[in-house]
Amino acid sequence: MSDFPDRLHNHEENSSSLPQSIADGRVDQELVFSIFDRLDTGVWIFDFDHKRILWANRKALEITDSATLEELRSRDMGKDMSHSVEQRLRQYQQDFCKHDVSFAEIWTLYPKGTAQVLQVVMSGIRLNDGRMALLCEGRPHHEQQPETLRSAEALMHTTVMISLFAEDGTPLYRNTAARAACPKLETRFEDQFVDPHEARRLLDQVVEDRTARLVANIETPAGARWHELTIRACHDAVSGQPAYLVSEIDVTELHETKERAQYLASHDTLTGLSNRTYLKERVTQVLQTAADNNQRATLYLVDLDDFKMVNDSLGHAAGDALLQIVAHTLKELAGPDDIVARLGGDEFLICHLEEPDHHIPDWFGQALLANFATSQLIDGKPRQIGLSIGYAHFPEDGKSIDQLMRNADLALYQAKTDPKCKCVRYRERMRLLRDEHHSIKKDLERAIRDNEFVLHFQPIACTNTERVVGAEALIRWHHPMKGLVRPDEFVPIAEETGLINDIGAWVGNQVGALQADLAKAGFSIPLSMNVSPRQMSDPHFMTRMQALADLTGCHPGMISLEITESVLLGDIPNAFETLTVLKAAGYRIVIDDFGTGYSNLAYLHNYPIDGIKIDRMFMEDIATGGAIVKLILSLASALGAEVVAEGVETAEQRTWLSENGCNRFQGFLYSKPVPEDDFRAMLRSQVRLAVM
Ligand code: C2E
Ligand code: CA
Ligand code: CA
Repeated sequence: MSDFPDRLHNHEENSSSLPQSIADGRVDQELVFSIFDRLDTGVWIFDFDHKRILWANRKALEITDSATLEELRSRDMGKDMSHSVEQRLRQYQQDFCKHDVSFAEIWTLYPKGTAQVLQVVMSGIRLNDGRMALLCEGRPHHEQQPETLRSAEALMHTTVMISLFAEDGTPLYRNTAARAACPKLETRFEDQFVDPHEARRLLDQVVEDRTARLVANIETPAGARWHELTIRACHDAVSGQPAYLVSEIDVTELHETKERAQYLASHDTLTGLSNRTYLKERVTQVLQTAADNNQRATLYLVDLDDFKMVNDSLGHAAGDALLQIVAHTLKELAGPDDIVARLGGDEFLICHLEEPDHHIPDWFGQALLANFATSQLIDGKPRQIGLSIGYAHFPEDGKSIDQLMRNADLALYQAKTDPKCKCVRYRERMRLLRDEHHSIKKDLERAIRDNEFVLHFQPIACTNTERVVGAEALIRWHHPMKGLVRPDEFVPIAEETGLINDIGAWVGNQVGALQADLAKAGFSIPLSMNVSPRQMSDPHFMTRMQALADLTGCHPGMISLEITESVLLGDIPNAFETLTVLKAAGYRIVIDDFGTGYSNLAYLHNYPIDGIKIDRMFMEDIATGGAIVKLILSLASALGAEVVAEGVETAEQRTWLSENGCNRFQGFLYSKPVPEDDFRAMLRSQVRLAVM
């Protein structure tokens, strides 16, 4: 058992110093030793560092069953010493160096095979070389009841930490385990806690209920550990004063397992970011801090563009890799107190306080976009990752997390549909816009079901002969309420929602059937159809187009597929493979709106391209010399690609094209897109003209 300074005999009085004289004369060293040998108390000096007994009186030799002092001195006391005893003695030794204290323990020794119970009092004694040794006094302990003895033993060996504190937190007693777990002997109750508030709370509860229990983070010589503390109000048996009896067990492992379970439940395993659990509480906390400090906070929603396409065409492993890249970047850019969460799928949330001196409201979003401006290595290949970001500021754009999320989501929706502005702040009008989009989407689903689409055909004519040499199929929507709706109003929404795949399948069937039908009627006229980027990574599109000849009797060599430059830029997964398959099936591949994207003719030779359509914006260029059109024409001729000029509205433009070697044109000058019947009539009249 250990004890504490204030309750201990002071060893100046009790043990180490000897009387300087005895009444009838000086006392020599021999007399002193003979006195020691007559004591019924075993006295020995233990050199803990070397695990040797340096000196012992006769009683001690008896206790330790040694014939001579020499024999005892030569014994290696460390041999049978358990680790816990060694630790305890070392602790005592250190305590002796710092304080004038002694400790009492009950020892059971077995010198001649029979148990001998001793009360051992240990105190420090400085050796000549300056080291601290242990001065031990062992008295027989017959008077103890077996029960008391056993409980004393149990108290010494148990791993439960038991301590007694005075009402003001002063330590009165600690058992061995408690002593080993406290950094310093004099550490007060509240000073053991990493967070002293917890100690206060615990004590307040004891005052109320007489007992309390808590798992808390406690400072120990082995660092901070988790202890489960049970504390009870009682009285100190010695002074009778109110006291607290505290028993503690180390639950660090259990606590960490629990914490881990909680971590797993509140985090996304793929990215390590927080998930939706507790998100509301945490964001609300940030907003509260913002409100308290009169600060601004921002909530961002980030969504990957075409993530489904990556997943579908490159596989889930590539999709996962992409999500991890995004999560990693978000963590890198965010501050330590920012909330970064994955809401599910490819949607992420970031919420942070804004520093008052930060003047760019969307700096985080811009930094994120800048990070993804260069391509990322996914599935071994560099790929361009598109992100859309919507954000809302607290308090201007919303005061609660629900409101901020709803509004950031509206902004995100806008960012998704806008190819140029990918980081968008919430504005009030967005609600209306989205409602409109929603209703169009619903309408489109019905339109597909009820077959409300029709194709119009815009002739492509020869710049020299003005004869029809082809036609482009352009979709129209016969809306039951709105009348004829132009593709610009619904194709982007159809692309975004994926409905374009169904619509595109219908267009393919119509165009295939018409080409076959025209051929039967003797019109060997090539037709063009528009294919949106999204269709290029739809594996069904590929197989459907392969089967189209069998299904409709069309001749794929008479059908041009108009694709945009973005398809060639590597943004669309599997585009090159699809192109190759379509080309092998016999279709002609034409680049639409040429010159509006980033592609240049120099690399077109990598692709199986049959033709290009010069975008109508270059027709204005003709009035000022047409340098760009000339350049496109000469490069196209070098590649052997056929050129169609789009959006030709004036005779001057047509003449210029004819003079500069562009044979084909399309535009209002010749004809607007017309219904199929009108187009057929146009073809028939052309035959009549030729016959006349
Ligand atoms: P696009 O492929 O560039 O089609 C040409 C557009 O220019 C057509 O608009 C046409 O009416 C218009 N246009 C033709 N000549 C002139 C002209 O001289 N002046 C002017 N100002 N415009 C002219 P439209 O029919 O409204 O189609 C718009 C876009 O919708 C198309 O652009 C195409 O990208 C898309 N689209 C049309 N049909 C389909 C389809 O079946 N599938 C897909 N995926 N997209 C389609
Ligand atoms: Ca087109
Ligand atoms: Ca075009």
